[in-house]
Amino acid sequence: MAWSTPEMSPASTPPPGVIDTHAHIYVDRFADDFDAVLARAGAAGVERIVMPATQPSEFERTLRLAEEHPTLHAAIGVHPHHAAEIDNDALNEVERINGEGNTVAVGEIGLDYYYDFAPRERQQEVFRRQLQLARHLDLPAVIHNRESDDDVLRIIEEEQDGTLRFQLHCFGSSMATLQRALELGGTISFTGNVTWLKALPEIVRAVPDDRLMLETDAPYLTPVPHRGRRNEPSYVPLVAERVAALRGQSIDDICRMTSFNARSFFRLPLLLLILLAGAATGRLHAQERPADTSAPAKPTIPYDRTFGIGGHFSSVTFISGSTTIGSGKTGVGLWLSSAPLQSLGVDWLQVDAIYNHSSFEFGDSSYLAVCQIFGECDQPLPRNDHTFLEFSLRFIANPSKPVNFFGSIGITHFHNEFGQDQYIHNKVINGERLLEPNGIENAWGINGSLGLSYSFTLPYFTIVPTAEWTVTAITSERPLSNHKEEFFVSMPRIGLLIYPNFKNLLD
Ligand SMILES: [Zn+2]
Ligand SMILES: [Zn+2]
Repeated sequence: MAWSTPEMSPASTPPPGVIDTHAHIYVDRFADDFDAVLARAGAAGVERIVMPATQPSEFERTLRLAEEHPTLHAAIGVHPHHAAEIDNDALNEVERINGEGNTVAVGEIGLDYYYDFAPRERQQEVFRRQLQLARHLDLPAVIHNRESDDDVLRIIEEEQDGTLRFQLHCFGSSMATLQRALELGGTISFTGNVTWLKALPEIVRAVPDDRLMLETDAPYLTPVPHRGRRNEPSYVPLVAERVAALRGQSIDDICRMTSFNARSFFRLPLLLLILLAGAATGRLHAQERPADTSAPAKPTIPYDRTFGIGGHFSSVTFISGSTTIGSGKTGVGLWLSSAPLQSLGVDWLQVDAIYNHSSFEFGDSSYLAVCQIFGECDQPLPRNDHTFLEFSLRFIANPSKPVNFFGSIGITHFHNEFGQDQYIHNKVINGERLLEPNGIENAWGINGSLGLSYSFTLPYFTIVPTAEWTVTAITSERPLSNHKEEFFVSMPRIGLLIYPNFKNLLD
């Protein structure tokens, strides 16, 4: 039976065909106006809808609707929310039904650690069992994943023998999860959340053309501008529109590509030749179209560096001219870092604020020399304390790679308390002991550094160990001798920065 599309105006251009690969339209919320929902979907160009059941009580209705409507397809599986309620008989039932050949996928299955409705061990058991039967039955798996990236990927990896086909539906995870899923042979489907989530664009752009699908997840995840209302398959073109805009591709190409992918992934019957012909003409059509309709996709930003915090150890050496006036003392400090323009696609610029403190004190070799001159090595001498506050711009040569090389320039504020110098001055000039470290100096300098870092991407954080060599040039008025003095501070340092992945943390 074809779509009935009575309200479609004959004058309007037919919308491009699109497939909603995930809609729970068998639920009660659609019972009252089911036919109208299907009619609106048809009018919007939705040519097929895959309905994943989530629990045994939905199996029968899902199968019946698919049987009654050639444009509807059933997927049968147990959702992680229901993993605790079902027994192994239910899983046998999933296997039996899927073995009968009237379903297009095993699903929806997966893990959900956000709601944790079932114990995680049980979720994993049910998920793994159904992945195995998808493989054995040569059906694709429709996978739900919420805050469970690591375990979902691990179980897929353990079950992937080269024959498992799977889709991560309603994708909202990190770039690292996306890349791992793609490596494992997965396909990716986006819902209405692409119309409102700020952090998704780079993910949407990073999915290869042949792994991309669209869905509504109706009745949930309603796209803009219908948020707050029940979602339905006729809204899937809104998802297509947004995905097309984010990827710099035309809506026609997105619909054609994703429909092609969905048909071959779910092996939707009868249409193979038609769709191959459609894809071929689609490609010709794409070549003919003027270039202005498709802007090139922006480069992706794989590492979220919205705001990072960390610490560092440095080796601080003061050099005046060719003389080392204080050598190799350990400095420790706090390191704040941010890529403030990352949301605008500028991922090669970082802004850093670094606090460092080091002190040269009694027991250091320079102090021993001093105290020996004055014969006062039996008692502590005042220290030299050095506090630096650096603000710098860091330019990253290769921001999209895990290993980054960078150079930075900036300004440094110095606050130095020359207790030792004060002591010497007083001994020599005044012949008296003065232990108070009141030779205080404040000065500004210019810093520059070269270094490299590595980005480890975890689900909630990017952890970035950094090694750099910073040199600072300062001219300051020495408080004791009252003359300008130029000196350099050499500071090789290693640091560790942690950038929270706010998108995943707040999701
Ligand atoms: Zn889901
Ligand atoms: Zn779902």
